[in-house]
Amino acid sequence: MFTAKQVIDARAARLDAAADAIWATPELAFEERRSAATQIEVLREEGFAIEEHLAGIETAFSARFGKGKPILGVLGEFDALSGLGQEADSLEKKPNGMSAGHGCGHNLLGMGSIAAAIAVKAYLEESGSEGTVIYFGCPGEEGGSGKAFMARDHVFDELDAAVSWHPAIINKVNTNSSLANYQILFKFDGTAAHAAANPEMGRSALDALELMNIGVQFLREHMPSSARIHYSIVDSGGISPNVVQPHAEALYLIRAATNDGVRQLYERVLKIAEGAALMTETKESHEFIKACSNTINNEVLQREMDRIMTQIAPPVPDQEDLAFARELTLRTLMGAPHADPEKPYAAIKLPYDYNVGEAAGSGSTDVGDVSWLCPLAQLSAATWCLGTPGHSWQVVTQGKRRMAHDAMRYAGVIMAETLISLLKQPDLLQKATAEFRKRVGKGYIAPIPEGVRPRSLTNL
Ligand SMILES: [Zn+2]
Ligand SMILES: [Zn+2]
Repeated sequence: MFTAKQVIDARAARLDAAADAIWATPELAFEERRSAATQIEVLREEGFAIEEHLAGIETAFSARFGKGKPILGVLGEFDALSGLGQEADSLEKKPNGMSAGHGCGHNLLGMGSIAAAIAVKAYLEESGSEGTVIYFGCPGEEGGSGKAFMARDHVFDELDAAVSWHPAIINKVNTNSSLANYQILFKFDGTAAHAAANPEMGRSALDALELMNIGVQFLREHMPSSARIHYSIVDSGGISPNVVQPHAEALYLIRAATNDGVRQLYERVLKIAEGAALMTETKESHEFIKACSNTINNEVLQREMDRIMTQIAPPVPDQEDLAFARELTLRTLMGAPHADPEKPYAAIKLPYDYNVGEAAGSGSTDVGDVSWLCPLAQLSAATWCLGTPGHSWQVVTQGKRRMAHDAMRYAGVIMAETLISLLKQPDLLQKATAEFRKRVGKGYIAPIPEGVRPRSLTNL
């Protein structure tokens, strides 16, 4: 009998090696040339038809196999995070000299999804069923919302359903939503002057920026409690305190539960920026950098993924994994949520809808935009030991370990079997589609305005 696990297990060495190669060449959003090439090489070997430069983005690509309906998507990522270069398998923070590192586990994310696409292709071949599987290589998830640009430009329009996953500390179908967000670059222009000799001649852009930040601080008390506003000062105008700073910039990240909510909050932040410019007699301008949508759940597809997860045992740590994780926990993770040196891995699958805590719904992902276009389900798989914080050196140090590889392939098996279920049971896809239509109502309105192009954060 066909099983996705057999197909994926037979390719374990190749898949793990590709994930390790991506770990070793960490690249930031929209600069992932080597990582995309590593994935494309594996997909070409497996006989997929590759299409590159999707939506005009250099590192966005698809890999397609099969013909006709249904058209099923698997979403993958491969970008890294700035400042997280770290030795692998180290029990302490030990930078490896690289400027970036895979602190969100996307070296695993992409290859786990490729494993799923390969297994669905094998099923289509063996069964002779009609249907198409497409792996999407999606760049710039971190700070770039690559999928939201791809969604705006109709890359996902043909999909009948899609799946994805994320490396994590637990094994579970994701049932929480994620926050919609806008990322906006605010700029102030004033007049430079000698800060002591001619202060009356100067109009400080930095003052305007500080007043804007204070205004937003007061706004925080009067917004929905699930909303978030973060900022970073990307240009303070210069390092000389004896100059009235003529230019300043801040990057704002505004999050809310829904796309409408984030747009309303954005309009209030705009008023604050205008007010800050008025107070300081400077000029305000802003650029829309990117946005992403909240995630729409699909209970039909999620419950099917959960049913499959209950039948396939998650990876179990061996003595060496346990010893490493125990030591990492004792040295660096004590006090972190769920960290336990006696039981350092979640080697179980959590029940459907198990409450994993408040933090679960507080982030954002550009997978949200795809969830507005077709029924979508995602899982978390325990690639890391309990207590490991996201975006940390501990993620990077565990990124090439046996448990990381095993959980990556486990996620691939679950995603593949979920899609194969849809191929075998057209009525299940119909039910998922009916639920999807009901939930999205009038449909998807791309949050990123036409004309805005993806930009790497190092190139603002
Ligand atoms: Zn991340
Ligand atoms: Zn991530």
